[in-house]
Amino acid sequence: MALMTGNEYVESLRKLNMEVYIFGERVECPVDHPIIRPSLNSVKMTYDLAQEPEYEELMTVTSHLTGKKINRFAHIHQSTEDLVKKVKMQRLLGQKTASCFQRCVGMDAFNACYSTTYDMDKKLGTNYHEKLKKYIIYCQENDLTVDGAMTDPKGDRGLAPSAQADPDMFLHIVERREDGIVVRGAKAHQTGIVNSHEVLVMPTLSMTEADKDYSVCFALPTDTKGIKMIYGRQSCDTRKLEGSKVDVGNPKFGGHEALVVFDNVFVPNDRIFMCGEYEFSNSLVERFAGFHRQSYGGCKVGVGDVLIGATALISDYNGTKKASHIKDKIIEMTHLNETLYCAGIACSSEGHKTAAGSYEIDLLLANVCKQNVTRFPYEIARLAEDIAGGILVTLPSEADLNSKEVGHYVEKYLKGVATVPTITRMKVLRFIENLTLGTAAVGYRTESLHGAGSPQAQRIMISRQSNLEAKKQLVKDILDIDI
Ligand code: SF4
Ligand code: FE
Repeated sequence: MALMTGNEYVESLRKLNMEVYIFGERVECPVDHPIIRPSLNSVKMTYDLAQEPEYEELMTVTSHLTGKKINRFAHIHQSTEDLVKKVKMQRLLGQKTASCFQRCVGMDAFNACYSTTYDMDKKLGTNYHEKLKKYIIYCQENDLTVDGAMTDPKGDRGLAPSAQADPDMFLHIVERREDGIVVRGAKAHQTGIVNSHEVLVMPTLSMTEADKDYSVCFALPTDTKGIKMIYGRQSCDTRKLEGSKVDVGNPKFGGHEALVVFDNVFVPNDRIFMCGEYEFSNSLVERFAGFHRQSYGGCKVGVGDVLIGATALISDYNGTKKASHIKDKIIEMTHLNETLYCAGIACSSEGHKTAAGSYEIDLLLANVCKQNVTRFPYEIARLAEDIAGGILVTLPSEADLNSKEVGHYVEKYLKGVATVPTITRMKVLRFIENLTLGTAAVGYRTESLHGAGSPQAQRIMISRQSNLEAKKQLVKDILDIDI
């Protein structure tokens, strides 16, 4: 089976026996849980769109490993054109779901591990690359969703992994056996883990020799014994338990993160792709971060498109669309959103071939892309809130609209232009609330700041990549300075 349908994907997840907790209780069937389901629908869209001829070019590609047609989310980029298509695919999915569709972390992890294991084998004589290739083929052939897991809890941020008071603050090897290793620790903020078949774990920062046991990369099925997922709360999440499709804002789609605990988990040898080679942890981190920073130039832009659309719609419904300042603010939102896209496309088309033969982005431009993402969605969201009006946060519930006693007041006084039903206006207001303040705000706002690395992480990379000496030399050449 090369490509699963969306429904086959849902059924394949149903078969897994993952250990998931919400509100302190184990979830029997995550697939059907009302808080989780919208996020599952977003991943399902990555399967559904791959079935549609209209999106075939973006959503599917030929595997360089098998020559078969696969979902692009399982692909190792073979050209700058592939990198550009990746960003376009992510914009498309952001447009279709108005949320985080989660599957990119696995794609970015595959690509970072692919070139890094190649370099590692070449320098150290290890055999990680071949093992990784086999694993990637397995995921491609079965069209699996893989969660790339990088971020450790980190404990005291001023201390290295091996210097922490609690050694488990970074995931590490606790036992080396003939047939594999046993690991313990946790990965925080794991996007889409509950909707994934597999988890691909990587180290979270550059390591030294003292951190050898923390320099570990491996993959496991998400229902492996000892892996426990503790679901992250989102603002307004319990609205999903109330049954109102209006009040949830986006009734169909969402995203999620979870704290994932690895409680003495066994990893067999064929699933280990780094085991103590600390000098390569930095390259894995930089490459994964670079790919994911490129990703944000696609997914956040797609969600931004929907937010701009919702803002324009609410100005129609409010009767303000002809006001020049409203028009200008929507132009500003578009300008900011397309500027994000520019960097996403630029870092892709300026990409280059790695020693392994795969393609990676221009690192400087990918970091500039993500640095812009830490700012512009906030301004876009501010403008959306400005145009929507204060009613965004004072709107009564759908139940009030349906109430025998007060429903007719809500209907009458919350109407905007006469031709648009009150319920329609309420739906769009709730949708904007969802994106700027509700469950989807996790993906559009705070994740824009911290996802794929917090702002300072990009500034460090920008400083490393900026080649200031070459810029100084430009001046010296022009002015004939030779010191
Ligand atoms: Fe994909 Fe964006 Fe979600 Fe990351 S934040 S997994 S790039 S949709
Ligand atoms: Fe993310």
